[in-house]
Amino acid sequence: VAEKETLGFQAEVKQLLQLMIHSLYSNKEIFLRELISNASDAADKMRFEAINNDALYGNDHELKIKVLFDKDAKTITISDNGIGMSRDEVISHLGTIAKSGTKEFFSKLSGDQQADAALIGQFGVGFYSAFIVADRVTVETRRAGAEASDAVRWESTGEGDYTIEQIEKINRGTDITLHLREGEDELLSSWKLKSIIRKYSDHISLPIVMKKEAWDEEKKENVVSDELETVNQASALWARSKSDITPEQYEEFYKHVSHDFQAPLAHTHNRVEGRSEYTQLLYVPAHAPFDLWDRNKRGGIKLYVKRVFIMDDAEQLMPVYLRFVKGVIDSNDLPLNVSREILQESRDVRVIREGSTKRVLGMLEEMANSDEQEGKDKYATFWKEFGQVLKEGIGEDATNKDRIAKLLRFASTQNDSAEQTVSFADYVARMKEGQEKIYYVTADSYTAARNSPHLEIFRKKGVEVLLLTDRVDEWMLSFLTDFDGKELVSVAKGGLDLGKLEDEAEKKEHEETEGQYKDLVEKMKGALADKAKDVRVTFRLTDSPACLVADEHELSANLVRMLKAAGQ
Ligand code: ADP
Ligand code: MG
Repeated sequence: VAEKETLGFQAEVKQLLQLMIHSLYSNKEIFLRELISNASDAADKMRFEAINNDALYGNDHELKIKVLFDKDAKTITISDNGIGMSRDEVISHLGTIAKSGTKEFFSKLSGDQQADAALIGQFGVGFYSAFIVADRVTVETRRAGAEASDAVRWESTGEGDYTIEQIEKINRGTDITLHLREGEDELLSSWKLKSIIRKYSDHISLPIVMKKEAWDEEKKENVVSDELETVNQASALWARSKSDITPEQYEEFYKHVSHDFQAPLAHTHNRVEGRSEYTQLLYVPAHAPFDLWDRNKRGGIKLYVKRVFIMDDAEQLMPVYLRFVKGVIDSNDLPLNVSREILQESRDVRVIREGSTKRVLGMLEEMANSDEQEGKDKYATFWKEFGQVLKEGIGEDATNKDRIAKLLRFASTQNDSAEQTVSFADYVARMKEGQEKIYYVTADSYTAARNSPHLEIFRKKGVEVLLLTDRVDEWMLSFLTDFDGKELVSVAKGGLDLGKLEDEAEKKEHEETEGQYKDLVEKMKGALADKAKDVRVTFRLTDSPACLVADEHELSANLVRMLKAAGQ
């Protein structure tokens, strides 16, 4: 048997622990939600591993979560008979943070408690939140399939290190014992714990059980009996009917599946019947994850088959441009032993993906078209966080391109702000008499776009121009040539045709001017022969003496810069 060992936490864990204890104190009840959430995940993993290996259950088939407390010892224990952890798993899961973006996240912390608390919330708190109320945490765990003598005890005071040792544990699963800090005695009550569980964990599909309290005639007080009772509804939330689910339950369920601390912006919950049967409960988060741009990131959909958890991050269930969506899809048609490889080729999966895409777009449209300020604000938040990702859909999803185009928002010469709030529909509604096209300019930044000399003639004529400055814009525009039958035209391209916006008198004047400068233009063409393809008299400038333009059918200057930067 190995000796008890002392190991150090990863530097980021130490920092997180420090911060969490101080900044989340006002929200301390969430520790129970986090630990129950982990126990529920562990049960899901157990059920999944047992699909092909029923022996893993031993004689313990009924998955559940137990919450016990001991008034004298001042402890709370959360026990599960889920998958458990091996020694190596304990070390990596409870001693390090595996999330990508962890380093960047910690570099953003300012030391200001309130700002940092909000950031930590975005990062997700998880297991370490136990230290908000406990000054010592003991974890005893036995991996499903491991011998009783091969269990592990982990213990820490949440400072710099933890101890780990081999122990004997009779049952499979994990017991987490919190030794409460001074002053946390109010948590040592059935009533208090039950109310926290009902508030935050009612959506958990497993039974959460506690010891029943009963009136003792002799002692004239409530005493804890040995009889257990289930304190939550214990049914899969997504399988309940919509009318039985409160907004708070939807919100708490989101926090459980997303490991997010903030409320979502919106959700959509549907049972789909017909050729393919499934239930979807999908959410749009209120903020982008740290790894939104990570190419290896898989997305946030949990796949269940007939209520059995199958896998996290089932990326085949959502197109890449909707990778920010979180939630659950429960299929009645897929086999329980479905793998990522099978998902890739499954016709059922394609049907689910198409159906879910439509639902998510519908949810976004509802926010975008809301008449109420709250809805509008939500869409503005959504756009700020995820707009650039949604733009990928223009190139990726030909079927839904028109719907996505209506959801796009841009900065514009109409507003004096870099904020992207103008839709194509807004633009079209403001088009000038005689204007047939939608004009835009692309640039590296809002300032560069706004100061572009190409805008001068448009300003003069009072014609609005959309200012496109996101990296994906040029790429997106190669898939989007018109909106509502109106051509999208870059103001920086070749012989800009202003169509009916130019009146006859102007045209004549222009022709005369061109005639006057013919000789000069020829001389300049000669002088710039190897630098410029063409030299023209322009009428688009009012203040600047000259500007560079791209050929009508050529890549724009901005795209050329981007491709060069990408090494192409
Ligand atoms: P998250 O749940 O977001 O992954 P946590 O900090 O809550 O992060 O938990 C870290 C990891 O520790 C989990 O991903 C899981 O692997 C492991 N873990 C925590 N609690 C349990 C448990 N009760 N049973 C098995 N594994 C657990
Ligand atoms: Mg967790």
